[in-house]
Amino acid sequence: MEAIIFSTILMLGLGLLFGLILGISDKFLYVKPDERMATFRSMLPGINCGACGQPGCDGLTAAVFEYKGKITDCRPMKPDQREKIKEWIKTAEGPDGTTLDLSKIT
Ligand code: SF4
Repeated sequence: MEAIIFSTILMLGLGLLFGLILGISDKFLYVKPDERMATFRSMLPGINCGACGQPGCDGLTAAVFEYKGKITDCRPMKPDQREKIKEWIKTAEGPDGTTLDLSKIT
């Protein structure tokens, strides 16, 4: 009987401890999502053709925001669309308050 009570208390204690660790980790390690990515993705043609060398429009979006791809990689994009994205990028601030370096993605 003592073993059951001890095991129950031990499991409750461990549950509380790990819950507390997860709660604290969530508070301090939370990475704010970059809302600009959804907007950027919506400005692409959305054909998912892969002509940019990425696995679809989502891939190019991720690549641009990691400075591994360029807006100009999207071949089906019309020049006026490209200019519109460039203008938007200049002023769109990320979670840290900075804007993308346009010279690295065009
Ligand atoms: S080339 Fe443009 S339309 Fe095609 S997958 Fe890449 S971003 Fe999407």
